[in-house]
Amino acid sequence: MTKQYDVAVIGAGAAGMMCAAVAGQRGKSVVLIDHAGKLAEKIRISGGGRCNFTNLGATPANFLSQNPHFCKSALSRYTPQDFLSLIKRYRIGYHEKHKGQLFCDSSSEDIIDMLKSECELGHVTWRMPCAVDAVGKEGELFRLDTDSGAVLARQLVIATGGLSIPKIGATDFAYRIARQFDLDVIAPRPGLVPLTFDGAGWQAFAELSGIALEVEVETGVKKQKGYFLEDLLFTHRGLSGPAILQISSYWQEGAPLVLNLLPQIDVAETLIEGKSTLKKNLGNLLAQWLPTRLADGLLKANGFDGAARIADMQDKQLRALGQALNGWSIKPAGSEGYRKAEVTLGGVNTKELSQQSMMANKVPGLHFIGEAVDVTGWLGGYNFQWAWASGVAAGNALN
Ligand SMILES: Cc1cc2nc3c(=O)[nH]c(=O)nc-3n(C[C@H](O)[C@H](O)[C@H](O)COP(=O)(O)OP(=O)(O)OC[C@H]3O[C@@H](n4cnc5c(N)ncnc54)[C@H](O)[C@@H]3O)c2cc1C
Repeated sequence: MTKQYDVAVIGAGAAGMMCAAVAGQRGKSVVLIDHAGKLAEKIRISGGGRCNFTNLGATPANFLSQNPHFCKSALSRYTPQDFLSLIKRYRIGYHEKHKGQLFCDSSSEDIIDMLKSECELGHVTWRMPCAVDAVGKEGELFRLDTDSGAVLARQLVIATGGLSIPKIGATDFAYRIARQFDLDVIAPRPGLVPLTFDGAGWQAFAELSGIALEVEVETGVKKQKGYFLEDLLFTHRGLSGPAILQISSYWQEGAPLVLNLLPQIDVAETLIEGKSTLKKNLGNLLAQWLPTRLADGLLKANGFDGAARIADMQDKQLRALGQALNGWSIKPAGSEGYRKAEVTLGGVNTKELSQQSMMANKVPGLHFIGEAVDVTGWLGGYNFQWAWASGVAAGNALN
């Protein structure tokens, strides 16, 4: 039997549940549809199972988009403090970890239960697991053909996220619906993802797997430039850790990354000035600053003899070593792809949407929220903040 609602939300993840709860609590009849058997799997696995649910310092500068201004409205109307008030109302224990990142003390399940309760307060109807086979228009209404019957709704919210982690149900549904209604989609690509390296030049570094250190990393120029001071991790296939996940969202295929492995030390200057006083050989000196295995690997990869005495080296050689450590330029071969990416960059072009309501300008009633939209946050709770804020913006605007 066909049922009719004020609002149908497809995708019961972070943004979809938030939007459904807000609209429902405003008295709208809402149906929330998801094809997954398990609710909000991405929230469950997030933050290592403790969900980094927001970042106290979140500002529009922490987001990537073709239009960096688009996210400002929603983010300013629903802030990290607003989400924190909700967390406190549910007495969920939380703590700050690193640079404003807030995590649950106990488990991500607390966030899922909270959003479920908020949906219940809004009398949201659940259809889950439920696959949506087709979306069309029937007069003024949206018609969804699902595997549990047809649904009619005056307004439709697409909250099906991006392509990351296909094994837990990520699909291109949002992009397909956008294109069906003639809306532009910015080509999606994996973000917050480990980068891979290959070729003979990388052989020496493959042995450094497991080593972690704080580095500066940058790529790109002008408005496309990304810079982070974070931890780097050597892996079997390349580089990972927060520094690399962050910069991966700015990295363009074929472009180099520039790494400063010793941000606190000007290596060339220190070595040249210290030639007469530094009695050590190169290997021993570098091992004071870097993990020994890394110091040895870097010397080998750059053709330096660890046994060479600093006093005997030419300034030119010391400058070259300084460059290798303070400005190591390397070209990734690729990334680990959607299998490992925490987010998907790109998505529904923001120029198609209202920043107030997230509604498509040329399709009255059709909304896109969360990761499906071309707004992508840094690592550190920003992506959930966007999911909450865009969900609330749409939830409050639905009539
Ligand atoms: C491993 C990992 C860890 C992360 N950790 C953090 C973190 O700690 N902090 C942070 O801010 N961000 C984190 N993120 C990113 C964050 O999870 C996402 O940005 C956020 O969940 C996006 O919310 P969303 O509601 O737009 O999409 P999602 O939460 O992905 O929800 C989309 C929903 O749509 C459903 N769906 C998809 N296709 C269809 C379809 N065809 N039909 C019906 N339903 C469909 C899915 O089943 C899913 O329930 C992490 C991501 C990953 C992968």
